[in-house]
Parts: sequence; C-alpha cells; structure tokens
Amino acid sequence: MSTIAFIGLGNMGGPMAANLVKSGHEVLGVDLVAELREAAQAGGVKIAASAAEAAAQADVVVTMLPAGRHVLGVWGELTPKAGALWIDSSTIDVDSARKAHKLAQDKGALSIDAPVSGGVGGAKAGTLTFMCGGSEAAFAAAKPVLERMGKRIVHCGAAGAGQAAKICNNMILGATMIATCEAFVLGEKLGLSHQALYDVASTSSGQSWSLSSYCPVPGPVPASPANNGYKPGFAAALMLKDLKLAQEAALASGANTPLGAAAAQLYALFNAGGGAGADFSGIIEFLRGRG
Ligand code: NAD
Repeated sequence: MSTIAFIGLGNMGGPMAANLVKSGHEVLGVDLVAELREAAQAGGVKIAASAAEAAAQADVVVTMLPAGRHVLGVWGELTPKAGALWIDSSTIDVDSARKAHKLAQDKGALSIDAPVSGGVGGAKAGTLTFMCGGSEAAFAAAKPVLERMGKRIVHCGAAGAGQAAKICNNMILGATMIATCEAFVLGEKLGLSHQALYDVASTSSGQSWSLSSYCPVPGPVPASPANNGYKPGFAAALMLKDLKLAQEAALASGANTPLGAAAAQLYALFNAGGGAGADFSGIIEFLRGRG
C-alpha cells in the first residue's frame, strides 16, 4: 500500500482521508486548523508538519481545498517524490486546474483533476463520483486510489476536463432545481397538491434528479432535505460557488448560458438573504417570497 499525503482535512477531506486509512494506506495529513488535524489523527491519519514535508515522502498527494488559489499555492510549494501522482479533488476553476497540471508536469509529477459529487454523505460512505481530467497514464494510476473513496470514477478527458464536467453538471442541477421549485410554487397558487404534481411530473417530461431524487417540498421523497428543514445536503453557498465557476468559464470560452447566468443571480440573492447555510433546494422559500 502506498503513502498518501492528504492536504485539506475539512468537511470532505476529513472523511476521505479516513477512508484511505481504512483501506490500508499510510496517510500523512495537513490542515491549517488544529481541531481538524486532531479529528483526522483520531481516524488514523499521521499529521505532517507541512504539505511540502508530507509530499516529499508520498507516492500520491491529494488536495481537497476551497479554491484554485489554494491549490496553486500548495502545489507550488511541493517537490514530488520520484514517480509521484498528484490528485486535486477540490472544485476549482478550469483555468487554475490547467495551471496546476502544468506546475506538476514541470516538476515531473503525474497529475489529475478529480472533483467530486456526492457531498459529505458520499465522502463518509466512500460512494463519491470522481470526474477526472488528465492523461491516460495519470488516470490509470489514480483510479485504484480514488476507488477507495468513491464508487464511480469517470475519465472525462484531458487536463481540466474533470472540472469542466463538474461545473456543467452543477449548472444543470442549479437550473433544474429552480425550475422545479417554480413549478411547485405555481402549483400551490393553482391549488394543486404537491403529491399530485410530483406523481405527474416525476413520470412525465418534467422529470429530473432535482424532482425525483431531491424533491424541494416535503412528502414525495422522504429523504430529501425539504423533510428536514432544508438542512444541507448541499449548501446553497456551494451551489453559488459552482454556478459562479460555470459563469467564469462561460465568459472565458464564449459559451451562451443565459439560464446558468439567471441561476447564479438567483442563488446570489438567496445567499445574500440568509440562505447560504441552507440546502440549495431551500431556494423554494425565497421564490415563495419567504426566504
Ligand atoms: P472545507 O472548508 O470544510 O475544507 C477545506 C479545508 O482546507 C479547510 O479545513 C482548510 O483549513 C483547509 N486549507 C485551506 N488552505 C490550506 C492550506 N494552505 N494548507 C492546508 N489546509 C488548507 O471545505 P469542504 O466542504 O471540505 O470542500 C472542499 C472542496 O470540495 C471545495 O473545493 C468544495 O467546493 C468541494 N466540494 C464540497 C462539497 C461539500 O458538500 N462540502 C461537495 C462537493 C465538492
């Protein structure tokens, strides 16, 4: 089993690192926050003094950090062990992801961008989906490691393709969630019950994951956050982050994404009005004029 440096032991990184320990890897963890280092240590992670110290001994480096600037900052400080593979699983902008690949390449490390979907629940259960960008060789090296933390490992293409897939997917998710919420709000005004709209739309052309698996009103899908006071789940702040990344990419590439832009604006208003910590499906309250 290989030695893995894990940088960023937060909501996602903490449980992901713990799963790597459970599968028999030696994991050297780093985080800026003392309590997170202690929690990781309790799960069997060995704490390293710095990312550079951990990476110098590691066959694989995984970063799980807030944004592109953190990833570029950390990767910039590292010197790889011979033959090392660097994996970034943070959600970051495509441009920074490509810069990170270039940094790794210049230092002689294999690299892969491998953002995830599945949230904290998926990180704990080891059922994340990884969307990967990078060479065939890097993907082949990363797959057995990622399989210890996830269920679906998809090679989306060259450097940055994992991040591209992630923001395109979440742009669909944000827009379909708003459309689904608007339909329930209109149905309420027209005297239509939530269950009736669900029964029709979930088996008709209005069907989507936002409706069938994550229904934004309580009742039809018992496990959805709507049944739990819109406790996340997937926080509206993270949805806004991903929609902004999609808009940055749309601007940079010249893609027309008017619904993505509208979704980003609506989530910005919902966040600013106090919804940031709520599940993203809680935007229905905002659309009703209550959020
Ligand atoms: P988090 O804020 O809980 O964790 C990030 C951690 O990185 C923090 O503990 C922070 O102290 C640490 N950190 C920052 N700079 C560092 C540095 N220079 N060296 C060492 N540690 C450093 O965030 P999270 O919820 O775990 O999310 C991590 C990434 O995963 C983000 O990019 C996020 O968008 C993405 N993501 C999150 C979710 C989710 O549901 N939370 C789902 C999918 C993707």
